[in-house]
Amino acid sequence: MHDAIYESTHDSSHEKPQQLRILEKEIITCRKCPRLVEYREKVAQEKRRAFRDWTYWGRPVPGFGDPHAELFILGLAPAAHGANRTGRVFTGDRSGDFLYAALHKTGFASQPTSLHRDDGLTLNNSFIAAAVRCAPPANKPLPSELLNCRGYLERELALLRPKVVLALGKIAWDAYLDVLKSQGVIASRAKFAFAHGTVAKLPGAGPRLVGAYHPSQQNTQTGRVTPAMYAKVLRRIRQLLAEPPQRK
Ligand code: SF4
Repeated sequence: MHDAIYESTHDSSHEKPQQLRILEKEIITCRKCPRLVEYREKVAQEKRRAFRDWTYWGRPVPGFGDPHAELFILGLAPAAHGANRTGRVFTGDRSGDFLYAALHKTGFASQPTSLHRDDGLTLNNSFIAAAVRCAPPANKPLPSELLNCRGYLERELALLRPKVVLALGKIAWDAYLDVLKSQGVIASRAKFAFAHGTVAKLPGAGPRLVGAYHPSQQNTQTGRVTPAMYAKVLRRIRQLLAEPPQRK
């Protein structure tokens, strides 16, 4: 593991669920990014016609999953009418449909669909979070917003101590590399190019970083991302999880 990531965390696995709940409460009340606070609340008030009977979540969306997960999946941000409506990451939109179907097929999720917070979905050995916890306009967070939100990612990583981080898309990939850079594990992101299926050659003994194209509707509908591509990446991750810990 990258010691820098974990140095401040007391490793007591039975405390993890409780510590994650404390962090979750903190995330949910965050208002650090004025532009995103305004947008998430405006969307929640105006709603989309198809969801007019919903009470939108309209707040930051915390991470979700198994508190003892070895696989940490990092997405970009909540979708305005997806997670910003349902309050659970990748829940209620097409990206989530694709992702959870893939996770279910490979044993990381209890069911292939993710419709709302009380639909019974549980994750097995996996945890999903977003680099930015509030829905951004046009799905494009500003660098300052990514920076504001990075502390939550760092704290989740410190609590979970995953063996593998799967970055969904380049922004998530860069967000994770920025965590390593800020902690002195790497000097720059430049050496670590993002591509689907790539396993980054990172220094140290921290989590393996794996890349996958984001399961956005744009990617899945055009065939740039297919279920077979995700199955392959997730099978590779199963292999990585089965390997002994990396040595420094
Ligand atoms: S994006 Fe993150 S830091 Fe910004 S308001 Fe939302 S939760 Fe807070």
